[in-house]
Amino acid sequence: MEMKSGKWLCSSCKKPLEEGYYFETDATGYCSKACLSHKMSWDEYLAIHDDGNGDAYWTSWSRSKTS
Ligand SMILES: [Zn+2]
Repeated sequence: MEMKSGKWLCSSCKKPLEEGYYFETDATGYCSKACLSHKMSWDEYLAIHDDGNGDAYWTSWSRSKTS
C-alpha cells in the first residue's frame, strides 16, 4: 500500500481508500473483493483472515470525525 498525502491507495486500482481489505503482513490494501482477487483467491484471503484472528481484515481509514 502506498501513502500519498495521507491517503491509503488500493494496491490494485490505486483508488484512494476510506475502507477496504488490509493486510498487516505487507501493509497493502484493496478497495474491493475484485481488486483483492488480483493478489490472491478469496479462499487464500479467508485463510489469512482466519475468522478475524489473522493478519488480513476489512478496516476503515476514514479520518476520525468528532462526533
Ligand atoms: Zn481497488
